[in-house]
Amino acid sequence: MTKVSIVNVEVGEFTFLVPEQLAFNFEIASRNSVLEGAELRIKTVKGRLFCNDCHFEGESQVNPDIPDQLAVFAPMKCPKCGSSSTKIIGGRDFIITSIEAEVAEST
Ligand SMILES: [Zn+2]
Repeated sequence: MTKVSIVNVEVGEFTFLVPEQLAFNFEIASRNSVLEGAELRIKTVKGRLFCNDCHFEGESQVNPDIPDQLAVFAPMKCPKCGSSSTKIIGGRDFIITSIEAEVAEST
């Protein structure tokens, strides 16, 4: 029987997923499946922003003053000019990058 040992995932900053919560949910969801007992390795990816005003493009940080639950609805401010006319161009993805599995040898 094939058994998955490691699941590597990339989580964008703007998904606002909490790694601890993700790991907990993964554990529950994986019970009685080939994923049971697999280790979930989470890599956080920085959010990327594009500014409509100054055309800044790059990494952005979530405003630490805004709670995560609200930040998902709040406009991200441009770190260069402070404009709120921005759009998120990255960091909203949740991707499974690779899965490592142990395949039992058939004899
Ligand atoms: Zn700007």
